[in-house]
Amino acid sequence: MELHGATRYLLEPILSELVSPGSILSAYSLASTFCVAVFALALRHRARRGHANLPAIFRAIFGTRVTGHESFHADVKLVFLSIVVLPPFMMSLALSANTVSMAVSSVLKSAFGSFAPSTGHEASIRAMSTVALFVAYEIGYWVDHYLKHRVSFLWAFHKLHHTAEVLTPLTNYRNHPVDNVIFGYMLSIFVGGAAGVLAWIFGRDTQIVSVDGKNIIFIAFLWTIGHLQHSQFWIPFTGVWGRILMSPAHHQIHHSDDPRHFNRNLGSVLAVWDWLAGTLEIPSTKNPRLSYGVKEVGQEAHSWRGMLATPLVEGGGALWRALLSMRKSSFIGRRRPERDLTDEMGQRS
Ligand SMILES: [Zn+2]
Ligand SMILES: [Zn+2]
Repeated sequence: MELHGATRYLLEPILSELVSPGSILSAYSLASTFCVAVFALALRHRARRGHANLPAIFRAIFGTRVTGHESFHADVKLVFLSIVVLPPFMMSLALSANTVSMAVSSVLKSAFGSFAPSTGHEASIRAMSTVALFVAYEIGYWVDHYLKHRVSFLWAFHKLHHTAEVLTPLTNYRNHPVDNVIFGYMLSIFVGGAAGVLAWIFGRDTQIVSVDGKNIIFIAFLWTIGHLQHSQFWIPFTGVWGRILMSPAHHQIHHSDDPRHFNRNLGSVLAVWDWLAGTLEIPSTKNPRLSYGVKEVGQEAHSWRGMLATPLVEGGGALWRALLSMRKSSFIGRRRPERDLTDEMGQRS
């Protein structure tokens, strides 16, 4: 491959992520998040010292304490892997939400007949569908995340996201490819299933209000506080808001290496699922100075081998043990007492 060809191969996907308004790494979302971070830090400075110290704020955002950390360097490697290397291979493994949607609407149609096509206003149907698919996404995200913290096979892969010791917007990409594939299937089932029900009810393809194909509600979250969930800045929502929305501090608690915080705050945008399930931890107003990471992983947390190969070995082992225990329980004809998955998955399950 010629040099300029190789450079293009490497840079094009990254540039495309940066200029696509709907991408997680879009320059727009990073720029708006930067403004929100500066504003939030300036407000805190003013409350404490009576004035905003801009140089200190910029040092807090771009300081080498984060960008010089090996955890951040590992995140950069995984961004490269997720955006440049993996997409061509992942395409063939993906389950499209459209496929699920068409299957669900045709099953409903053949089982119950056509629902009377709605004569409702196009804009109101679109708005309703936007909210419904956003809620379906949120439930799918929570269920996927809950299972990944409860099932040892799934935790083996999800653990990589928790090995981050400093949090930046790039930590969004710190996921094992197997974790990403399972997440994609889960979302296709929940969002595609909901879109199929809507298509059956309204008698037309489900349309939503979107930016670059992404739900506008999710984009609004991403462009304001979404990226700050993976940041060092303690921005808590408390009281009623803390039960409805996941603030940056909610997700930082999720990453905390304090055992009291394990398996808490599993939601994406909404905190209500955690509230209903009893897994909600509302952040305190005062910054508790949390530390992040998974202690058991040790030295291998940020190497290619530790990030990509170790989860395959641990996941394979977990699957093998689960199969063996199923075989044993069917052989003796009664179920053995359930093992506490918390013990099996180490500190965080
Ligand atoms: Zn998690
Ligand atoms: Zn996270």
